[in-house]
Amino acid sequence: MAEIRIEGLTRRFGNVRAVDDVSLDVADGDFLVLLGPSGCGKTTLLRMIAGLLEPSEGRIMLGDRDITHVPARRRDLAMVFQSYALYPHLTVERNIGFPLRAARRPKAEIARRVREVADQLELGGLLHRRPRELSGGQRQRVALGRALVRDPQAFLMDEPLSNLDAKLRTATRTELAGLHRRLGRTFIYVTHDQVEAMSMATRVVLLNGGRVEQVGSPTEVYDTPASVFVAGFLGAPPMNLIEARVEADGDLLAVRADGLRIPLWPGFDEPRDVIVGLRPENLTLLPGSAESPRPAEPPHPAEASTASPGLTASPGSTAQIEGVVTTVENLGSEEVAWCDVHGQAVALRGPRPIGLAAGDRARLTVDVSRVHLFARASGRRLA
Ligand code: ATP
Repeated sequence: MAEIRIEGLTRRFGNVRAVDDVSLDVADGDFLVLLGPSGCGKTTLLRMIAGLLEPSEGRIMLGDRDITHVPARRRDLAMVFQSYALYPHLTVERNIGFPLRAARRPKAEIARRVREVADQLELGGLLHRRPRELSGGQRQRVALGRALVRDPQAFLMDEPLSNLDAKLRTATRTELAGLHRRLGRTFIYVTHDQVEAMSMATRVVLLNGGRVEQVGSPTEVYDTPASVFVAGFLGAPPMNLIEARVEADGDLLAVRADGLRIPLWPGFDEPRDVIVGLRPENLTLLPGSAESPRPAEPPHPAEASTASPGLTASPGSTAQIEGVVTTVENLGSEEVAWCDVHGQAVALRGPRPIGLAAGDRARLTVDVSRVHLFARASGRRLA
């Protein structure tokens, strides 16, 4: 059983709380990715799990064994580093076999395990080379082989792909996800790259300032971000975040900003400052432009004054946004149009050609069910 339970884990460096009261359950067989910006505490958390760093407070359980103070080599966890940490003077064969030699396993067993692992990672033809005679990707696989050979309960990886070029990174990502499926072992993986996290993880932990912002499947953290931080971290470009206010609108409540009005869905009972979140890919361009006549929707009183660029919403299920395109970025198969909406930059992403050019007035629409709302004071999700 490689269920790992982390309870109230904290690590201080002087006044800095690098990891601050983190509790997590890592299920057996999870591919758990610790994701967050530089300095959020990912490496510190991983090193405490590995036994390379003492926690200031808290507990780490492996199954029902308390391993908080167990030395790294007796934790039955294997760590793969960004730098690979290979022995330069040893061949691939001896690098992979090193942990078994250190554990004084019989020679025949070492030879058999090294062969198995080398085959699994397609390193069979390279066993007699030294690290300097290998490519970055091959070195990375040797480092992985050295972890695999011990058949540990869980693999801990700290940005293992960051030294690879973009093409190799993509290929190795697929390989790692496949390896995780084949082995059925627990992986805990540190990265600041959201594509790595989204493509490989079974669960993602978003860290910010040493604390957990959200834990969920890649779909959950993307589709229902728990906070403004998560919303603004995931996505390329990330979610458009617009300051607004929930206000009385007749007998009802509505969200309003400069030119924005969204009739409120049930569950809101008090006025407050909010942040409206709109994913760039959830915005669609209305046929025609701002110059074309407005569609024949039942007019709403609050829409009467939307002659200038801004956001509006019909009483039905779509909100509308009007802006002026400032730039269009070509991403290959898609394009991003940046629109100025009352001084706020709002991104729209769609298949190329997106049908807009700098200077155009763009009329965009978004399904109200795709609108995210966050409390401005706490940054936490409201809907
Ligand atoms: P990166 O993605 O840049 O590697 P990270 O999320 O892994 O960042 P950590 O390396 O865990 O972040 O660092 C978390 C915080 O703790 C940072 O503010 C860092 O400066 C601080 N820190 C880490 N190690 C030490 C140390 N040995 N002494 C003092 N401060 C440290």
